[in-house]
Amino acid sequence: MKIDLYDKKRLGIYVHVPFCISKCAYCDFNSFVPKSETVMTEYVDAVISHMADYREAGRGYVADSVYFGGGTPTALPQRELRRLLSSVSKNFDVSKKAEFTVEVNPGTADLSLFKMMRRCGVNRISMGLQSADNRELAALSRCHTRQEFVDSFRLARQAGFDNISVDLMFGIPGQTMASLLKSLSFVMMLEPEHVSLYNLKIEPGTPFYENRNELRAVLPSEEVEFEMYRAAIDALEKRGYLQYEISNFARFGYRCLHNLKYWNCEEYLGFGVSAHSYFNSNRFAFIDSVDRYIAAVKDKNSPVTVTKESETLEARERMGEYIMLRFRLADGIGSVDFARRFGVSFESLYGRKIEKYVKDGFIEKREGSYALTPAGMFVSNYILSDILEFEDLGAVTGNIT
Ligand code: SF4
Repeated sequence: MKIDLYDKKRLGIYVHVPFCISKCAYCDFNSFVPKSETVMTEYVDAVISHMADYREAGRGYVADSVYFGGGTPTALPQRELRRLLSSVSKNFDVSKKAEFTVEVNPGTADLSLFKMMRRCGVNRISMGLQSADNRELAALSRCHTRQEFVDSFRLARQAGFDNISVDLMFGIPGQTMASLLKSLSFVMMLEPEHVSLYNLKIEPGTPFYENRNELRAVLPSEEVEFEMYRAAIDALEKRGYLQYEISNFARFGYRCLHNLKYWNCEEYLGFGVSAHSYFNSNRFAFIDSVDRYIAAVKDKNSPVTVTKESETLEARERMGEYIMLRFRLADGIGSVDFARRFGVSFESLYGRKIEKYVKDGFIEKREGSYALTPAGMFVSNYILSDILEFEDLGAVTGNIT
């Protein structure tokens, strides 16, 4: 009998590659410039072996999305990236229709690398541009120019990629409304299928954080940032990129299925340092240190444990996460879906809390659902902390990019 996609439970697979060719001044992701190729080879060996450890657990599932993020997966030597890409289908049942994404930084992939990725089943590229203004790129200490981005984008198209996402930022030092709109026009001229638009955040532990006092003079104010966000949403929607999440816009049929798994509280397994998983009602994350990760995976008797945190979510926590993640989506929270999942009505639990946000235009009450308005999305962390009475949202939102 033919087993089809829907006879099995569905699963997302994430693989974290923590290597970059240089470190951007604003970046707090777990990524670094490797000292040698040896560490990359050892890391790839460890991740492949770690995946094999989960082969049994993954039976009964079909992977309908695979995502290689980082870091910069294409900073790996081509043979190492090929080994890692092909190890996914050796250990898990990957659907032929799966969305398979690799993050690429401009200038880190040539035509042969793009072609190799196609042969390994990759069908979606996520490319970081951040800005089409070379001065802004330099201010961010990005490792590429606008022209290098165009070259990489064209090579991806030439290799046959017909699903490309481009990352942009607003709130960059020295950025103005005019330069943001120019970056958006530039990107839309290239016609990617998907655009992600993030607000630059000054995160502790980064060079930007160290220089935060000097930076303040050249950073757009919060009011200007909000105007930028509104203007970007308008510009993108006019060109057919519909907002489906706080930071994500897609042409019809091109929403990122992998990230939707996170926001819809569906199951995924992550491999590599700092990778998070949600599997069998458990949330767990692996350690951050590459050396310790390699040692722990290699030697099962090693005193180092590869898991840094693990928890089984109780109903109340699952509900909190669901609200936090679903409110990121333009579709918001459906009353029927909420009641079906948790056996209690959303209105009875949170109706009073959200009343003021509906009144002030931060939450829109629709027929059978509630969703953040653009103003609400801009201050979503504040609203969610208040509704859910959380001190800090970083623990859960931190792994969602
Ligand atoms: S390329 Fe990406 S992951 Fe690497 S340092 Fe820059 S922002 Fe961080």
